[in-house]
Amino acid sequence: MDQIAYVNGSFVPLSEARVSVLDRGFLFADGIYEVAAVLEGRLIDNASHLARLERSVGEIALALPETIDRIREIQKELIARNHLVNGMVYLQVTRGADSGRDFAFPKGDIKPTLIMFTTVKDIVNQPSAKTGIAVITVPDLRWVRRDIKSVALLAQVLAKQAAAAAGAGEAWMIEDGVVTEGGSSSAFILTKDDVLVTRQNGSEILPGCTRKAVVALAEERQLRVEERPFSIAEALVAKEAFTTSATLFVQPVVSIDGKPIGNGKPGPMTERLREIYVEFASATAT
Ligand code: PLP
Repeated sequence: MDQIAYVNGSFVPLSEARVSVLDRGFLFADGIYEVAAVLEGRLIDNASHLARLERSVGEIALALPETIDRIREIQKELIARNHLVNGMVYLQVTRGADSGRDFAFPKGDIKPTLIMFTTVKDIVNQPSAKTGIAVITVPDLRWVRRDIKSVALLAQVLAKQAAAAAGAGEAWMIEDGVVTEGGSSSAFILTKDDVLVTRQNGSEILPGCTRKAVVALAEERQLRVEERPFSIAEALVAKEAFTTSATLFVQPVVSIDGKPIGNGKPGPMTERLREIYVEFASATAT
């Protein structure tokens, strides 16, 4: 059965979903996206994703074509129409299609493009949660406003392709000798003194929704958290490492550039934080 997508007000088979070649998302990557996970047919931490969507579009002066309430309804209708149990809803909004290719914003009354589609994925039971993943490091080639969840993802495409070619599950990006974040995830280590370390939010990284929830859940349980940069040298002597995202939850990292973290297996604190996150996700899904 063909998946159903949402395109500018209509629900259509994914194979028939179309936008214009003049769409500014296509021509200039002039757009924003969000990905929210779905567990048992319900959205996880969606308020956080929609708040970040509003912030991102605000930072590029792009007016959403629908209210946040309506966007939430569309997400839910799409889940229902696709009978989606476990997976994710992808959402993208762009500055729409103008009559030509002008860099400056369209002058006329151009409606932004809003599209959504769903993907099936058993996030809770993904095998890599048990085995952990290998990470490679790559230089961070991105622009300076990484706090905006822009669809301009070429640097991440190259980073994650390098990881895939090396048989790794993620690339951690390095700038000025320290880790910024993963190609599509937030990076964490647990030091020898049981301090959870992750880069502080700022324009250098995307403020991960999963990162935010994990930091709060860890602090609620009296785990010490330091939001600061860390180097690969520090990560290599850490007890544990993991990476977080909406569609990975808490993902153990067992090696970096071929060198093991701890004993080269997912660490107990990582496994515990994953369980805690899964509990949080199930309890708060909407
Ligand atoms: N950092 C980057 C660069 C990302 O692309 C993502 C997710 O796609 C994340 C972090 C994790 O964010 P979230 O936990 O909101 O999925």
